[in-house]
Amino acid sequence: MDILIQFAYVVSGGLFIFGLKQLGSPATARRGNMVSAIAMLVAIVAALLDQGIVDFQWIVIGFVVGGAIGAGAARMVQMTSMPEMVALFNGFGGMASLLVGWASLAGATETFTLITIVLAILIGGLTFTGSLIAYGKLSETIGSGAVMFRGQQVVNSLIVLGILGSAVMFCIQPENPQWLYMVVGLSLVFGVMAVIPIGGADMPVVISLLNSYSGLAACAAGFAVNNNILIVAGSLVGASGIILTQIMCKAMNRSLSNVLFSGFGSGVQDTTEVEGEIKPIVVEDAFYILEAASSVAIIPGYGMAVAQAQHVVKELCELMEENGAEVNFGIHPVAGRMPGHMNVLLAEADVPYDQLLEMDDINPRMENVDVCIVIGANDVVNPAARENEGSPIYGMPVINVDQARTVFVLKRSMASGFAGIENPLFYKDNTRMLFGDAKESIGGLIREFS
Ligand code: NDP
Repeated sequence: MDILIQFAYVVSGGLFIFGLKQLGSPATARRGNMVSAIAMLVAIVAALLDQGIVDFQWIVIGFVVGGAIGAGAARMVQMTSMPEMVALFNGFGGMASLLVGWASLAGATETFTLITIVLAILIGGLTFTGSLIAYGKLSETIGSGAVMFRGQQVVNSLIVLGILGSAVMFCIQPENPQWLYMVVGLSLVFGVMAVIPIGGADMPVVISLLNSYSGLAACAAGFAVNNNILIVAGSLVGASGIILTQIMCKAMNRSLSNVLFSGFGSGVQDTTEVEGEIKPIVVEDAFYILEAASSVAIIPGYGMAVAQAQHVVKELCELMEENGAEVNFGIHPVAGRMPGHMNVLLAEADVPYDQLLEMDDINPRMENVDVCIVIGANDVVNPAARENEGSPIYGMPVINVDQARTVFVLKRSMASGFAGIENPLFYKDNTRMLFGDAKESIGGLIREFS
């Protein structure tokens, strides 16, 4: 039996790796998700058998209640709230590791086990509260800006020292529970303190970093309960989350330490000065320009998710192609509110993957584009990142839509994007603002074409 269980763990680990690999491309991502889910099922069944006598009554209750909540939440969640939900689930992963670490305390005496218990509790705790703050920022229930105050670094250093001191004392005196309670409490506080100073355009880094932490917490919990597959799965999540964090930092041209410790745009007053005037355009006039275009670039952003415009975007894209235009999509790595957000939406609408170009591929072509249609994107097309050293996003690579011959910006108002800063694109000579809900504006263009 033991051999079979170990074999199931190996199969499950292999499936996790294979699933992760498939998640790397939009064409195979759905299958990758399914393969990983099967790997998880194999891992759970093997772990249950591995434990010998367990009370299956509670396991079944947990399975049914947890499964029903998860399935219900996933079905009911609005597509626009998906990033918040991912943040929340990350947090629950952290809390689960904290609880597993805590529960495995019974009878633990070896220093190594005690250290892994502390790590599971520490990383799990800070992942939990950090993810709750990320949830609040993404849903904008607590405001998306960075929260900074005098002496913040000192307070944070004291908390870290407190955690380290309590952790060491716990390993020396495991029979004294107050040291562990200190680690639990301070980790929860530290999660809040670590995420509040990060805001605005820096949030993608936090999301991927918390994702990585939830994996590391699971890995530590795996050591604490001596379960190989938890160690493997946790390491995979931890490592892939770190790689994603690196990609997100690169996409924003920031170092990780700069994102974590300096606060978004802190000390930088947005000095972007806008020149020129807003030139609104109506659907009928926009249609005449589009009809004559032979090359079109579509740049989607968070507003496309809000408007749920991906299906009409695909329809418009087909009509423009029938009209003889070459149409491509330019995808910025941090567009939307979660990594890969735009790819998920466009895949849902069956937009062919070879039409999706990454920022570095579409930028060199921009000067030859007749019309660039910006659909609910704002920060990721802000030329201030290139032109104005005083902008909080200065240095962040953006899609250079202003270099196209004509730019249509589809948004409802002059409101700013997630970073809360001015966008000079809207005032450029070649920009026309097509105000209104993106789905309705595109619907209007479709009616004109057909
Ligand atoms: P932005 O948040 O910069 O802008 C979105 C724009 O969409 C707004 O200006 C809004 O203007 C418009 N909009 C909203 N609803 C509609 C609608 N129904 N129809 C038309 N337009 C609409 O989005 P971007 O994608 O350009 O940038 C993403 C930002 O989010 C970056 O700052 C990024 O750092 C951050 N972020 C990204 C994460 C990620 O992982 N990708 C995670 C967390 C944050 P209006 O209200 O006038 O319509």
